Amino acid sequence: MTIAAFATEHFANHTDWLPRVVGLRLTLPLVLLVTFWIWETLRPFFQLQRNRHRHAVRNLTVALMNAAVIGLLFGTATVLTSHWAVESRIGLLHLTDGFAVGRFAAGLILLDAWMFVWHWLNHRVPLLWRFHRMHHSDPDMDVTTATRFHLGEHVISASLRLMLIPVIGLSVWQIVVYEMAVIATTHFHHANISVGRADRWLRCLVVTPDMHKVHHSRWQPETDSNFAVVLSIWDRLAQTFRLNSDPHSIAFGLDEFANERWQSIGGMLRTPFAGKGSRQRFGNVDDEPQSQSEVSEVTPRP
Ligand SMILES: [Zn+2]
Ligand SMILES: [Zn+2]
Repeated sequence: MTIAAFATEHFANHTDWLPRVVGLRLTLPLVLLVTFWIWETLRPFFQLQRNRHRHAVRNLTVALMNAAVIGLLFGTATVLTSHWAVESRIGLLHLTDGFAVGRFAAGLILLDAWMFVWHWLNHRVPLLWRFHRMHHSDPDMDVTTATRFHLGEHVISASLRLMLIPVIGLSVWQIVVYEMAVIATTHFHHANISVGRADRWLRCLVVTPDMHKVHHSRWQPETDSNFAVVLSIWDRLAQTFRLNSDPHSIAFGLDEFANERWQSIGGMLRTPFAGKGSRQRFGNVDDEPQSQSEVSEVTPRP
């Protein structure tokens, strides 16, 4: 059965539970944003320099615009493609009639492995880095940074995932549960908090604040490490796992986007179109020459 034929036959059946799924997807980030915002207010890890509220409004405005566009472009297509793949028994998960819970978990693990590869590619492929660097150019990482991605990155990621659904044979519930896990983990590990010694135990399983702080470092060897999204095992397997013994010494952001103008909403949206796509460490993408102190705020560690 083609996707078009499936859509015609089944679309009416999705109208009753689809709003509940969408509601759940929208509620979880809001609850986590408020929870970690309060935690960051009471026990911040870094005393961040800039206007915290303006920083949050900018990041969340971009996130809301993204959510609207991605929801319209990919929401229905994702649901229909996964239903079509499952009902037609297409994809790796349908090669055997194994234990249902096992297949469900296998789908989540395969999705997480793909997200690790996708994130790694974002750091390796110049075109992808152009979009992804907007996430890294945030000099004051906090819980709102979890939502700060360029629309271009979302569009490419969602398009590839749409193709991945029939390859793996993912059900819509696997996608929804995985998205919930991503939202929970990413809000946790971007938050400007520390869980102290518990970080050590938690990072045996999931990506923690101490791990992801290293990924947002200005120092490129640290930026190009810790690519995992939910499960930390991928970085251990790929030998890209890295820790910093003194997380307080980490400076966030990118030297080439040190100018404050890249932090406005317009500046963020223009980030992919500045300079070269390759990594320009210790250079600057601005057309106008900048003061040397602004360019080299951070001295590379040996
Ligand atoms: Zn990254
Ligand atoms: Zn991040």
